[in-house]
Amino acid sequence: MRAMISVAEAQARILAAIPSIASPELVAVANAHGRVLAEDVRSTTDVPPTDNSAVDGYAVAAHDLPATGTRRLDVVADLPAGSLFTETLRTGQALRIMTGAPMPAGADTVYPQEMVTRTGARVEVPPIEAGANVRHRGEDVRAGFVVLPAGRVIRAQEMGVVASLGLAQILVRQRPRVAIFSTGDEVADAGVERTAAQIYDSNRFALRGLVQSAGAEATDCGIIPDRFDELHAQLLAAAAAHDIVLTSGGVSVGDHDLVKAVLRDAGSIDFWQVAMQPGRPVAVGRIGAAHFFGLPGNPVAAMLTFHLFVRPALWKLAGRQELDVPRFRAVSMEPMRKKRGRREFKRGRLAYTGDRWEVRTTGPQGSGILTSMTEANCLVVLEEDAGDVAAGDRVWVEPFATS
Ligand code: AMP
Ligand code: MG
Repeated sequence: MRAMISVAEAQARILAAIPSIASPELVAVANAHGRVLAEDVRSTTDVPPTDNSAVDGYAVAAHDLPATGTRRLDVVADLPAGSLFTETLRTGQALRIMTGAPMPAGADTVYPQEMVTRTGARVEVPPIEAGANVRHRGEDVRAGFVVLPAGRVIRAQEMGVVASLGLAQILVRQRPRVAIFSTGDEVADAGVERTAAQIYDSNRFALRGLVQSAGAEATDCGIIPDRFDELHAQLLAAAAAHDIVLTSGGVSVGDHDLVKAVLRDAGSIDFWQVAMQPGRPVAVGRIGAAHFFGLPGNPVAAMLTFHLFVRPALWKLAGRQELDVPRFRAVSMEPMRKKRGRREFKRGRLAYTGDRWEVRTTGPQGSGILTSMTEANCLVVLEEDAGDVAAGDRVWVEPFATS
């Protein structure tokens, strides 16, 4: 059961094992950032609701526009934004109007105030294109149309659009709940004295950040020592209250790598050697009703395997439609060693030089060197069939989110 599989195959198997998505819940638009829509948002109104002025100026009727020279019109009223002119504009009349104010009946064109000469209650206007400077009813959103489809992630612009429809609440998917464990006798908690043989736990915190960035809810379950009984009890307890149980460490072939043994006993597990570097060993399975991911202990490998395998699973659980992330080509400014037959990920620093994107690695690339991630703003993705990269070659890069 130690088959070597490709990254793409591992991803496909993981997604196939997640058939259901989280239940819906109603949330205030104000709190919806990062959530996923559980249903289509359909507008019941036109946005904007009326034709309105795009500028501060004077509304007139097209038949009053001079073809040449100028024409004098009577300014019959002053209409601030938020007010309505209830009469009909007649021939020879103009209405002083502010940006966003509804167009009066009878008018279809607006002069910007810079174009006209105002003298007392009269305004002198030059030629202008009929219909200029009017924003039309429904030009942003038409009543009855789907504005945002189910499965869309709510970003800032979606929050704004939903609010523009007059909606205060929307139906979104519940956030997947993720239990995060670190494993290993050598791992100590920050803030606590460590022994000479221990290192501080970084994975629990890096993974927590990744879980939160993926729009899910993280529970910190602490560090479990390399003891079968304790691992068994704690993983089962966490499985009862979470959608996903996440561990790091203990999935390779060392004497104390007990995660697999616990899962075989308490759930089911597929243990894969994924043809990638870093991050080869990954354990995927079920424990109780929860999905289980056993990530490697090395900090860069843990983050990378999360990125490749856990994040798409979380996104799918949350009902998200779009699971692909953008990648593009950049020029490698240095040679890179690459073994054919596996996918390799370097941590890169992307910079734009004025006419092209260039990328360099962030120094030593060992899978325990976590600062190779903090110095990075992208992953360099070297595909399976690629060999060594020469300086000047184009490589795939996948930018990190900026927060
Ligand atoms: P393991 O997979 O348990 O053999 O761990 C592989 C490497 O990752 C070892 O050097 C561990 O000390 C290290 N490691 C495991 N868990 C953590 C953690 N939570 N934080 C930092 N390093 C870890
Ligand atoms: Mg260990």
